[in-house]
This record gives sequence, C-alpha cells and structure tokens, in this order.
Amino acid sequence: MTTAIIIGSGIGGLATAIRLARQGISVAVYESAEKAGGKVSQLHFDGFRFDAGPSLLTLPELVHELLDDDLRFPIRKLDVITKYFYPDGTQLSAFSNVEKFSAEVGQKLDIPSSKVVNYLKKAAKVYELTSDLFIFGSFHRIKTLMNLKSLRTLIHFRHLQALNTLHEYNRQELSDGRLVQLFDRYATYNGSNPYETPATLSVISHLEHNLGAFIPEDGMFQITDSLYQQALRLGVKFHFSQPVRKVDAANGKVSGVIIDTGFVAADIVVSDIDIHRFYSSLLPDKKRLARITKEERSSSALIFYWGMKGVFPELDIHNIFFSSDYQDEFEHLFEKKKIYNDPTVYVYISSKYNRSDAPEGCENWFVMINAPADTGQNWDELIAQSRKNILEKLERMLGKKLSESIVSEQILSPPDIFKQTGSVNGSLYGSSSNSRYASFNRHANFRRDINGLYFVGGSVHPGGGIPLCLSSANIVDGLVKEQLQKRPK
Ligand SMILES: Cc1cc2nc3c(=O)[nH]c(=O)nc-3n(C[C@H](O)[C@H](O)[C@H](O)COP(=O)(O)OP(=O)(O)OC[C@H]3O[C@@H](n4cnc5c(N)ncnc54)[C@H](O)[C@@H]3O)c2cc1C
Repeated sequence: MTTAIIIGSGIGGLATAIRLARQGISVAVYESAEKAGGKVSQLHFDGFRFDAGPSLLTLPELVHELLDDDLRFPIRKLDVITKYFYPDGTQLSAFSNVEKFSAEVGQKLDIPSSKVVNYLKKAAKVYELTSDLFIFGSFHRIKTLMNLKSLRTLIHFRHLQALNTLHEYNRQELSDGRLVQLFDRYATYNGSNPYETPATLSVISHLEHNLGAFIPEDGMFQITDSLYQQALRLGVKFHFSQPVRKVDAANGKVSGVIIDTGFVAADIVVSDIDIHRFYSSLLPDKKRLARITKEERSSSALIFYWGMKGVFPELDIHNIFFSSDYQDEFEHLFEKKKIYNDPTVYVYISSKYNRSDAPEGCENWFVMINAPADTGQNWDELIAQSRKNILEKLERMLGKKLSESIVSEQILSPPDIFKQTGSVNGSLYGSSSNSRYASFNRHANFRRDINGLYFVGGSVHPGGGIPLCLSSANIVDGLVKEQLQKRPK
C-alpha cells in the first residue's frame, strides 16, 4: 500500500489527508501542536468563545465537498458582510445583495449605484479569466499553461489590470475616496499592500460580494474540526506534539521524514508548513531559501480578544473602522515596519449570531489591526501603545466609553503567531502579493527534481486564505494521482 506523510495539520494538510486517504493511500499526519487546525483555531476563557484566526469564509463548497453528508455543517450566508465606519462619520453597510449594496452606496456616499455594479461585474470577469489558471490549476506545469482556457486568459490580458495597482484601478473606477478605501481593503485579505499589489486582486471582492461571505453556525473552528473528524473516519493517523525535524530525500526521490524518535518511511511527503521554514530547517536549501526571502512577507496581525460586558446594537458581526490616511498606514506596515497610530480596526463579534459565544448581556469582541511582519520590533511597547490607540479610536467613533466594558482579555501578537503555527515572521499568508510577479514566484505544489515531495497551504501556490489552501490540496491530489498512475505496476 502506498504511504503518505503530511507535515502539519493546517487546513491544507487536513484537506490533503482526506483526499489522499480517499485515493486508498495510508496517510499519517505529524503535527507539532497538540491539536489539528493550525491557524483556524478557537479560544475559550471566562465564559467567552472566540474564533482565534480566520473569521470569514468564501467558497464554502470547497469545504463541504470534502465531507460526508453527515459531517456537513450549517453555514450561514451573511446579509451584511461588513459594516464600515469612516473617520468623517459615514457609516455604510456592505450588503451581500449587490443591488442593496449599490443602493446603500448611492444613498450614503452620493455615488451612482451603477459604479459598484459595474465594478463587481468586471471583478467577476477577472475571476472567470484567472481562476482556473491562478487558483484552481497548477500553472507551474506546461500542461496547464498550454490549454485553451489559459490561452484565453492571455488574450484577455488587458482585462486583468495586472499592470495597475489595486489602488490605481479603484481610483479610476470608483472615484469616491471612501469607496476606493473599501475596495482597497481587499488587498489585506492576502496580507498585501493595495498601493503595490496588482489590480487583479479585485477578484477577492467578487468572491465576497458576488458569490457571498459565509460563517459556520458554530464558528470557524467547525471547518477544521469537521475536516479532522472526516480524516479520522477515513483512517488517517494523527501524531500530535510530534514535529517533523527533517525530510529525507536523495537520488531524486523522497523516502520519509525524521521525527524525534527516528526515521519514518513514506512514498509521499506533503509539507503544509511555511515554505520558508521548510527550506531553512526541514530540507535546508540556501538557493531556494534566498529566492523565497526575496519576496516581501505578507503582513501580520495584532489581535485583542475582549470579553465585553454590554450589548452594542450599533455594531454588526464584522465591522471596520477605517484610518484617515490609508496610504500612510500601509507605508508604516510595509516600509517602516511599524504599527500605525491611527490603525484601521476590525471588530468581529460572533456572539451577534451565536449567543452561546458570550455570557448573557455580554459580547465577544475580536479586535484586530494589521501589523507588520515581525522583524524584532519591541512588541510589548507596540501592544501597549496600540491598545490605547484602538480604545481611543473606537470610543471616539462610537461615542461611548468602552475601556470599563472589557471584562476579560487575551492578546495575539506576530511572535505568538510564529510560535503557534510556525509562520515565519508571524506573517498570515506567507509572502505578500506586493509585486506583479508574486503569483508566478510562489513555490509550486511539487518539486520536479524530487519525486513524491509535494507542498500545500498558504505559503505556496495558489496562496493564503482558506479557499486557496483547499485548492492547493486539490491540486496535490491530482498530482499524486498522476504520479501513482505512472508508477510501474
Ligand atoms: C489572524 C488570522 C486571520 C485570518 N483571517 C482569515 C479569514 O478571515 N479568511 C480566510 O480565508 N483566511 C484567513 N486567514 C488565513 C488562513 O487562516 C490561512 O491561510 C490558513 O489557515 C493556512 O492554512 P495552512 O494549510 O497553510 O496551515 P497553517 O494553518 O499555517 O498550519 C500549519 C501547521 O503546521 C504545523 N507545523 C509547523 N511546523 C511543523 C513541523 N516541523 N512539523 C509538524 N507540524 C508543523 C503548525 O503547528 C500548524 O498546525 C487568517 C489567518 C490569521 C492568522
């Protein structure tokens, strides 16, 4: 029987384990943490429950297609995706229904509603042209590049806006600064800078607005928990608190991994860990590491999990409080590697729909700001300063005192993200997409020169975020099938 070892049980690793087990492969997962899920985790303290990492799901069908019917869970489509608060006092609800959203924009921002409708139509076109090649296919393979659809993408290259930055494109299409800021924000969905990332990233707004934003009824952790249950059902063996130290590969072939207790043989090894860490320690390779290091890291996050006494009807499930100078904020994050003093603040309150996430009369606030990747900043100082700035900002914009309402607190900083998940510099999404070549430079899902070695997860092709990690698992599934078919019987 063919054997496979998966290094890491993040969402990419879990999805790969399920897919390979369904191929009849005997799969073992080695995970350095005590539990499965990686960045998709949850916290419980003082009667509150928090999703610790991701808070919003797009393309939920990519999760459900992995699960047996009885393991599928209710996923709710959000009516209001995000409520936006601007420094000038404007409040805007981004409804998932495009007509309703564009009417809201027309009313609150005094902009013809056709602007938003047209923008989202163009974003849909970019998705249609790029998704098979850049998201669902392995474009590192000649076979993918040479098919008719890929040719069509190249013919329609001008529609992709790959030569403009997202911000330039948004300014040209949307004119109003507040609407530009709203659509610029999608760059942060893969930890990038809207003033540098190519406008092709407008596809993210298509996923959220045209296809929908979702949330599992019992929280985001339900996603990885269900995948874990499914993998167990298929006979996948999990080894927790057992980090893989080295990958063994010689003569163009992988042969297994080394863990603390010795060598474990396998025909196939799939890495779900940060590719930077893979080449710095598991399979040291200076040349490849240098290539990866050349790519700018994606941003990180500083998160305050606040148990709040009181109920705040002016807030929705997802809320954004924008900064007054977005460009300056991104210069701080990516060039100065600092946290901005007037940060854009994201507040996610899952207890708005799942009352059991907070005690009676309370709410669970996940308060997140973008942070630079960790390059050795003084995080104690930055945390104290940011906490003060965030509170002052929210109190000013909501017109109410909040500090006394915080009854419980935990904090997650970029160094914590590294400690908990092995993401180098605490970056949320591996390398950023701050250059027009970023997609092409991402590490492939396979090694041409090492048979049996594969890569999934947010730091390799097609990139970070739950749907893309799930897509990487699907790509690897196909590559392994091909490898096994080619093997002499
Ligand atoms: C705060 C935050 C908010 C986010 N928000 C969203 C969102 O709203 N929507 C969205 O789609 N995405 C979001 N993301 C991104 C998303 O969570 C990630 O892209 C995705 O979960 C990464 O999955 P992965 O497969 O790369 O594995 P990871 O989650 O990175 O897991 C890797 C696993 O490998 C293990 N590991 C590391 N080294 C070893 C070793 N040597 N041996 C064995 N195991 C090892 C780690 O312990 C970890 O469990 C967010 C991420 C964060 C942190």
